Amino acid sequence: MSDSELDVDAFEDIPVEERPEKVQREPGRKFAYTKLSASMMKTWSLCKRKFHQSYIDGIKQPAQANFTLGTAVHYALEMANSSLMKNPRELNPMEVASYIRLFVNIASKEFAPNPELFDEGTDMLKRELQSGHISHDKIIGIEDEFDIVTPEGVRIYGFMDKLVEVDSNTIKIVDYKTSRTAMSYDDARSDYQIAMYDLAVALKFPQYENRILELRYLRNGESVTVRRTQEEMYRFKLLLVGVDAAIKEYLANIKEAPAGTINDFCNWCSYNKSCPEYVDRVNTFLPEAPSTHALTDESFVETWEKVTSIIKAAEQWKDQLKIWAVERLNASPDTRIFGKEREIFPLTTTTKDYDVSVVGKLVPLDDLLGTRTGEPLVKINKKKLETYLSNKGDRKLTKKVDEACIVKVNAPQIRIKNKK
Ligand code: SF4
Repeated sequence: MSDSELDVDAFEDIPVEERPEKVQREPGRKFAYTKLSASMMKTWSLCKRKFHQSYIDGIKQPAQANFTLGTAVHYALEMANSSLMKNPRELNPMEVASYIRLFVNIASKEFAPNPELFDEGTDMLKRELQSGHISHDKIIGIEDEFDIVTPEGVRIYGFMDKLVEVDSNTIKIVDYKTSRTAMSYDDARSDYQIAMYDLAVALKFPQYENRILELRYLRNGESVTVRRTQEEMYRFKLLLVGVDAAIKEYLANIKEAPAGTINDFCNWCSYNKSCPEYVDRVNTFLPEAPSTHALTDESFVETWEKVTSIIKAAEQWKDQLKIWAVERLNASPDTRIFGKEREIFPLTTTTKDYDVSVVGKLVPLDDLLGTRTGEPLVKINKKKLETYLSNKGDRKLTKKVDEACIVKVNAPQIRIKNKK
């Protein structure tokens, strides 16, 4: 591998928005673009300035706590899965404890000052190692690397956390996630990383007709599962050609880092402090609301964009402040942060969840479904139902369930997009 090929994507498994840029190339050495990874593609699409600083300037950033947490959890899981691949079995309590110890050993070197991260990592690891999810898989690949040239001539590369043979016709790609929020089903379908895994597996393992892509969220033990259609793959291949050509053209005409494009992940961007657009946004106060009559259509769209980006930056600031607030409250003897007249304090709330299997036995089915009262007591979880149907792959069943779907038209939302 050349130095440039060692690039950021040794950390492919951690969402790009969660991690700092991980450039191993010496700063000052020329970036030689040879192949495209999903995270490179995401960065390119999100913000050209970030792409420039990360890949071309090769600015290395210090690791953040969440990043090291993800790395340590991934490593312990990789070891457990490698062992299960050689010898499929239920992990016994001693084995579970040994993988948790492995995590603790790595973690203690990385984030000793953050003890709550130990608990978070230990909890998610224990849950996964004890779940049937990990023990009943027929694992055929761990940290599986792909470096393939597509039929259209684009070289793609990356690593897949786990490959599982579901049956002789079906392969499942598992991607472990340590992020706090899960992707929606629709976002997962259009996610570059998922699309690239789907394409890589289709090219690398053509013997499997069906491919299932599972995003496994370790914090809550839930999965988002998708299948992509041939049409979606075709469109992604075209996109790859376009992005590949655009990056090559950009590199052939490199000047200085371009202006940043404010986006949802700026707050986690390692370069935000030196980014004029970001600094400008966070320092901008809301302008006084103009009268609608004083705005032309053109200035109306400009005002819309400006206010939206200010809100976005403010929300990101608030997220950051919440993280700092938790740290301050933990460090404060009376768990309070005192201002002049007001104070910030933690509020613990509880939620109630009923066990469906128990309630189902106690309450008559008619009442549960509301067939008599017209007021159902249970509600279908749309995302879980769609994941279930997708996993089942039974078209007739999916069609019948679709027929039972009641489509409600919501109030129109206002969106903004590029003019055609
Ligand atoms: S802060 Fe946002 S706009 Fe600035 S470089 Fe990072 S991603 Fe781009």
